[in-house]
Amino acid sequence: MANTKAYAATSADSGLAAYAIDRRELRADDVAIEIDYCGVCHSDLHTVENDWGGSKYPVVPGHEIIGRVTAVGSGVTHYKEGDMVGVGCMVDSCRTCSACESGLEQYCLDGSTMTYGGFDRHDGSITHGGYSERIVVSERFVVRIPENLDPASAAPILCAGITTYSPLKHFNVGKGHKVGVLGMGGLGHMGVKIAKALGAEVTIFTRSEAKVAEAKKQGADHVIISTDPEQMKAAKGSFDYLLDTIPVAHDLNPYLNCLSYDGTHILVGLLTPIEPAVQAGLLVTKRRVIAGSLIGGMPETQEVLDFCAEHDITCDVEMLDIRHINEAYERMKKGDVKYRFVIDMKTLKD
Ligand code: NDP
Ligand code: ZN
Repeated sequence: MANTKAYAATSADSGLAAYAIDRRELRADDVAIEIDYCGVCHSDLHTVENDWGGSKYPVVPGHEIIGRVTAVGSGVTHYKEGDMVGVGCMVDSCRTCSACESGLEQYCLDGSTMTYGGFDRHDGSITHGGYSERIVVSERFVVRIPENLDPASAAPILCAGITTYSPLKHFNVGKGHKVGVLGMGGLGHMGVKIAKALGAEVTIFTRSEAKVAEAKKQGADHVIISTDPEQMKAAKGSFDYLLDTIPVAHDLNPYLNCLSYDGTHILVGLLTPIEPAVQAGLLVTKRRVIAGSLIGGMPETQEVLDFCAEHDITCDVEMLDIRHINEAYERMKKGDVKYRFVIDMKTLKD
């Protein structure tokens, strides 16, 4: 009963193409959403191409979803038809463990259900994401989009925004801290804006001279060209935090060397083994820490939307016709996106 137009990958090398999926009838706590916009995250590409292993096909990616409520289940209390809402990276969790009870559903002890490529906890079907006309989601995993945010450029807050906001908040980053953001892509450029709004002094580490002027325009105080060993050496011991959004294995050692004593290197991008090996001496002699962080919980996802509305932060987006999604992925692989593709879902209906 395929009732919804979508775009899916059917194998790791198929690319994405039009594909029809089934969206369920509303359960009591469900919200049905007509999708207007969906951001294109590097995780979509990793999953389509099975970079992390375990992808379940067909994959309908997309976890930066914005749209309007078209119907609600009988038990829904927070949303009504017509509301502008968002769905991020999760659509369910056990809801009863200590992590869920603390609003940290992403760390659910039973494993949270991802927006795409997860298993629905009721019927075991594979979950499908936002490269589609509609989605049906339990209201606990829906957030409200503040009225003064432009919906298209707010979409990436649902993943790129929360993934950078959550660790910065967790580590209490603020005034007086020096923060380096590694990689100026979707996550990185949001990391700069959010860290600045939290009061930190922010440096972007990029491979690209061409991004220097834009990094400054987005609020970065300084830029370091990460491929220049002299610039990397000159930054020795300078930073309290590094927020690492680089999507592939890379040498952490030159970056660790840039941390002050007690500095923390926060991985959000790297989900494969760290290669080459980390020199333990770089950690031990300065009490440095390597940490990781996964998206953010539902209360914090609402918080970052409200924070962005208050500080007038949106994503720099390039609007995308879904029929050009495969070209967009190729550009993303080259780091050639300014700074997030957002699919206009009207193009799926044409
Ligand atoms: P983008 O492709 O938008 O940006 C990544 C940036 O990293 C690029 O723009 C580039 O910046 C830099 N980069 C890319 N390739 C290399 C390379 N080979 N060596 C060094 N630098 C490189 O990706 P996103 O921002 O969407 O995602 C970043 C990572 O974060 C992905 O791996 C994604 O899966 C992950 N992620 C993790 C989440 C979590 O919860 N932890 C949530 C969402 C995403 P520049 O050109 O400036 O060097
Ligand atoms: Zn993402």
